[in-house]
Amino acid sequence: MTSTGAIRCVRMEPVILVHGGAGDIPDSRVRPKIDGNRNAVQAGYAVLQNGGSALDAVEAAVKRMEDDEAFNAGFGSVLNLDGEVEMDASVMVGSDLSAGAVTVVKDVSHPISLARMVMERTPHLLLAGAGANKFARDQGVPVLPKGALVSEYAKKALEEFKVRGCASTEIGEKNPGDVGTVGAVAIDARGNLAAATSTGGINGKMVGRCSDTSLIGSGTYADNDIGAVSTTGHGESIAKFCLAHAIIKEMEHGKSADKATNEALAKMTEKLKNTAGAITLSRNGEVGVGFTSQRMSWAYRKGGEYHYGINKGDHNVEKIN
Ligand code: ASP
Repeated sequence: MTSTGAIRCVRMEPVILVHGGAGDIPDSRVRPKIDGNRNAVQAGYAVLQNGGSALDAVEAAVKRMEDDEAFNAGFGSVLNLDGEVEMDASVMVGSDLSAGAVTVVKDVSHPISLARMVMERTPHLLLAGAGANKFARDQGVPVLPKGALVSEYAKKALEEFKVRGCASTEIGEKNPGDVGTVGAVAIDARGNLAAATSTGGINGKMVGRCSDTSLIGSGTYADNDIGAVSTTGHGESIAKFCLAHAIIKEMEHGKSADKATNEALAKMTEKLKNTAGAITLSRNGEVGVGFTSQRMSWAYRKGGEYHYGINKGDHNVEKIN
């Protein structure tokens, strides 16, 4: 990597871009995701508008979606084969490539904030399972009662999974339950980039399964010299392809955020025969959105405009006064 990751002293138009997961999203989940993405963008943009950092903005946006049952993160996460929620999250800051992550963490409302604590308060990159939960307790993070993050929808989805016996990140009436990892990328007024991603993983996963979302370079990446990326989709494929970093490399070689995102996704899907999606911001605040799955909810705010979509070819724009 040639990056110096330097802190930038420029005046940028701040941007926050979020996703609510890639997959075969059933029609019944479309509206909740569009609304949830809007709330997340509002939370993140409020931080940026008040002169806050890209890191604070992506954390605020992801926390909002972790609280929202419409997404597969925090409350409403999909369940493992034992019927438990085990969550993964990661965060990265573009100014110095600092990063933090947690995997297989239980009973905390906001895994993304725990990932940030790993970044800011430990010498490590990734804490797993019991160790991540011990760290949460040591940091005074409230521990929820067992089962507090389990939604009725997730229980039903696991039951269906057990009957059908097939694992998929493609959600839909056929394989309900994998209701969408969440992610956010932002650039603040000083030109600093950050990325954050959080997930409950895959419905019916084995106990202890780690996802791409906890892996820097697969689920999340940010470098002030190039851009910031958050991914979603078939985790094992994303991890094998190092999807977030593959997009960053394409941008480093001169491609726009949108071209880099769509070309890397197409290559991953061609090689590994599974689908994914990603959101990307370049160092200049250009937006990239792509998915090889049937749907992915996404939204962003830049200046006085709010942009969003969920189906292929969607690009709705609203003026904000
Ligand atoms: N990438 C996530 C995982 O495999 C799932 C998703 O993005 O929907 O755990």
